[in-house]
Amino acid sequence: MTKPLAVTVGAGVAGLAAAWWLDKAGWRSVIIERAESLRENGYMLGLSGLGFETACRMGLRDRLEAGAFRIDENVYKDSKGRELLRLRYRDFIRDLPYLAVRRTDLVRALAEILPDTAAIRFCETIDDFVQTEDKVDVTLSSGETIVADMLIGADGFRSSLRQKLFGPDDTCLQPLGYYFSVYDVGAPKQFDTDFVSYAEPGHLAEYYALHDGRLAAMHVWRDDRPNLEQRGGRIDLLQAVSAHSHPHVRQLLKQTQHEESPVLIDSLTMIDLPKWSQNRVLLIGDAAHCLTLVSGQGAGMALASAEMLGEAMKVAQDPGTAFERHEFLLRPIITRLQSRSRKMAAVFIPQSAFAFRLRNLLMRYMPRSWLGRYFSNSIRAEIALAANMKQETMPVSGP
Ligand SMILES: Cc1cc2nc3c(=O)[nH]c(=O)nc-3n(C[C@H](O)[C@H](O)[C@H](O)COP(=O)(O)OP(=O)(O)OC[C@H]3O[C@@H](n4cnc5c(N)ncnc54)[C@H](O)[C@@H]3O)c2cc1C
Repeated sequence: MTKPLAVTVGAGVAGLAAAWWLDKAGWRSVIIERAESLRENGYMLGLSGLGFETACRMGLRDRLEAGAFRIDENVYKDSKGRELLRLRYRDFIRDLPYLAVRRTDLVRALAEILPDTAAIRFCETIDDFVQTEDKVDVTLSSGETIVADMLIGADGFRSSLRQKLFGPDDTCLQPLGYYFSVYDVGAPKQFDTDFVSYAEPGHLAEYYALHDGRLAAMHVWRDDRPNLEQRGGRIDLLQAVSAHSHPHVRQLLKQTQHEESPVLIDSLTMIDLPKWSQNRVLLIGDAAHCLTLVSGQGAGMALASAEMLGEAMKVAQDPGTAFERHEFLLRPIITRLQSRSRKMAAVFIPQSAFAFRLRNLLMRYMPRSWLGRYFSNSIRAEIALAANMKQETMPVSGP
């Protein structure tokens, strides 16, 4: 008997992981990716908690460890180069397992273990889809139509499938009031800690070395103006944001001007949808519930969500029932993470000089055991919640 077919939009963390778990549930996948290849640059991300556990169950630990970064200490300096803070990651995460990898390496590792039942179609997107009672007709941008048993939107934070499914984004976007930028600098590392952060009221510029010794950068700054990411002149924008930053920040930006590598700018915006599916179409990963980098769990939850989908598919008779089970398992965890992100966003990078100093003083003198308790206990609570939800019986939905 032919295996049922899932068409998945997006060959990112969520889309590739979903194909792996769907294969275990007896499904084939066609992954439609807009880009011409898997994205080759990428920021560093941390995997811990549920996402780390899923990665291990997928047999990815060794692959990821091979390219992982050793992150020990982050030194925060002010715009004059004076040391503000020294934070050790282990103080936050304590004894929990943790991996720091580039998004590129995670995506590449997922692509390497892609099962034979899945294929990626690059330079394609979908134009339209029509749901019938037992199928979804998916029309690709090339004009081809694929008749599938389900359609999955894993096309990231700016998902176009989400808008096709639920209409304009206005109500589900929740801007946190910040923008971020990530890019490779090209200059070699000139400091002796793992991370250096230049912090000032309203702006943080962070640097770490790639495996070849060159620097990668991330800026996060407060800005309530809409759609900055659509403007041209990205380096000009970063130069304006960094006008009063430490000279090192401005010098590295000048060097980046001559680099070919892309400069990504986007807003920190959460996605909060009342429902993630409709009949045979499901959204997963950032398309469904973008948590932003403030949570430090977006990729992890994309992995965990893919596993929950595969597990639900193994037992459900049809996609609709599996999607309900998937949402039943995942929703409480996402709700917790979103609430935590909202709280943390409020104090992430204080805008006023007074609030900035106060936050730094608190961080400097607060016992490390408090910080560790807050972060590692939160991650543990999410692992426990996922285990509890698995044991819970799903309520029967109304008519
Ligand atoms: C700076 C930064 C730091 C972060 N740090 C962490 C961290 O420490 N820990 C963590 O767990 N998470 C972190 N995250 C979040 C994490 O990167 C995301 O949550 C995760 O990548 C989401 O995966 P996804 O597959 O849903 O979307 P994406 O990874 O964005 O993938 C979407 C894919 O869909 C493709 N696509 C988009 N539109 C279309 C279309 N119309 N048609 C076809 N294909 C399309 C894209 O090309 C892409 O390949 C961070 C994010 C950022 C930006």
